[in-house]
Amino acid sequence: MKYLDEYRDAETAKQYAEAIRRTTTRPWTIMEVCGGQTHSIVKYGIDELLPKEITLVHGPGCPVCVTPVELIDKAIEIAARPEVIFCSFGDMLRVPGTEKDLLSVKANGGDVRIVYSPLDAVKIARDFPDRQVVFFAVGFETTAPANAMSVYQAHQKGLKNFSLLVSHVLVPPAMEAILSSPANLVQGFLAAGHVCTVMGYTEYEPIAKKYHVPIVVTGFEPLDILQGVFMCIKQLEEGRSEVENQYSRSVRRQGNEPAQQLIREVFRVIPRKWRGVGEIPQSGLGLSEKFTEHDAELRFGVADRHVDESPECISGLILQGLKKPHECPAFGTRCNPEHPLGATMVSSEGACAAYYRYRRFDKERS
Ligand code: SF4
Repeated sequence: MKYLDEYRDAETAKQYAEAIRRTTTRPWTIMEVCGGQTHSIVKYGIDELLPKEITLVHGPGCPVCVTPVELIDKAIEIAARPEVIFCSFGDMLRVPGTEKDLLSVKANGGDVRIVYSPLDAVKIARDFPDRQVVFFAVGFETTAPANAMSVYQAHQKGLKNFSLLVSHVLVPPAMEAILSSPANLVQGFLAAGHVCTVMGYTEYEPIAKKYHVPIVVTGFEPLDILQGVFMCIKQLEEGRSEVENQYSRSVRRQGNEPAQQLIREVFRVIPRKWRGVGEIPQSGLGLSEKFTEHDAELRFGVADRHVDESPECISGLILQGLKKPHECPAFGTRCNPEHPLGATMVSSEGACAAYYRYRRFDKERS
């Protein structure tokens, strides 16, 4: 398949692994930001191809995983209302809130629908003018343009019955939070290629400079990741800390400027709470003043709910690269995909789900 098979070639992968081995002279810890990259790494055993000096740790770039419990509880409360059609991507339905999940709301008669695009939810709002239609807008900069477009279109069409429950987060502030922590282990980043397709990578340049870390914008296929690791290790070994672009077939330095313009028009930057991590300043998006009438938290009066996270789930430490999933005492026992205690075991991009799916129960090497 064009653009897939050539990035999965085993012989080329071996050559990259050998080049990384020849270049590496001492221990380095690299974080892949995106959960999609984590799944590729674990699925294809990329970490096992690398020399033992290189440790890959898994970052916070799984939007389902970082959505805080209180937002899940708000979603559950709104979805249970009889006048509401609650629309969401499928991944969010099994994420545990304090007591239950959205799937159990659906099982109890709530009108919870899986959609494949926020624009599907706009269409539902148009088709059911007597119902309140809410879309659960979760994600990083990657999904922000489509979610922004849904509000923009609903506003243009005068659909007063459409609102967004917004849980948007931003990558650069999370990277800065990780780097400025006294416990930080990360010496280089593989930045998420799809986020940079939208946003470009100029935001990363001051971070690389300030914290002296190489940042390589990287794709998601095995050879993308191996090349990203090679570029990152080369910078570390040469004492450089620059932003480089491995994913040039998709990413331009300035990104997609019309998409950025739409994000700026519909959203504003706000502080956001990250699941297991806590609040990070200026790390999220909320609706801008012009669009607040489409804010589901205000419409349904749930803006002020605050709940504590489960003390048993250590996903916050995993998403900051401080622990691996199999180091969680609940991993594979009390927490598994059938009975998840945390979102990282549910999400298709979650690190715990990847370790469980690809049988990474070994604590010695990962
Ligand atoms: S294994 Fe389960 S409880 Fe442990 S960190 Fe992962 S999601 Fe949380």
